[in-house]
Amino acid sequence: MNQEQNLRQCAACGEQEAFFTYAVRKNKNLRRLCTDCLLREHRNLFCPICLDVPPPEESIVCLNCPSITHLDCPPRPSSSASPFTCPPCSEPNFSFFPKSSHSTVLDQESADALVAAAIISAFLMNNEAAELKKEAHKKIFAAKEAKRRAKEALANLQDLVLKQKSFGDEE
Ligand SMILES: [Zn+2]
Ligand SMILES: [Zn+2]
Ligand SMILES: [Zn+2]
Repeated sequence: MNQEQNLRQCAACGEQEAFFTYAVRKNKNLRRLCTDCLLREHRNLFCPICLDVPPPEESIVCLNCPSITHLDCPPRPSSSASPFTCPPCSEPNFSFFPKSSHSTVLDQESADALVAAAIISAFLMNNEAAELKKEAHKKIFAAKEAKRRAKEALANLQDLVLKQKSFGDEE
């Protein structure tokens, strides 16, 4: 198995040649998920109809899963309106993103799914890296502070040099 195949394999569905995979950490295990599986596993983070991330507060929660749909997003014909079940729960063959996408041409829905998955994976990574980020912010702040001090010192030095110069001129 070469590296390329490895990176395109989905840990959840076993898809070997996913169009794109996302590294997701779960219980300290790093897994690569395809677009469809990433979205399926994080249904609470987006609307399954318009694929907007994140969904607003006024929304309908799926009866079977944490999926949240906009109140004004039209339910798909196959979704039962009441009680509401989301597309992946009501359609057995539903997929947010086609498996084994050998074509590089994406329809609008697939493109939206890719964008949603990218945002969600970035969000998950940000969450995970929050602590790391805090450290980084501290360092950036410290660097800024050091730079400010250096500038101040330089300005003082310039003042001093100018003063000495003007003193020199006076003499
Ligand atoms: Zn998958
Ligand atoms: Zn929506
Ligand atoms: Zn559902």
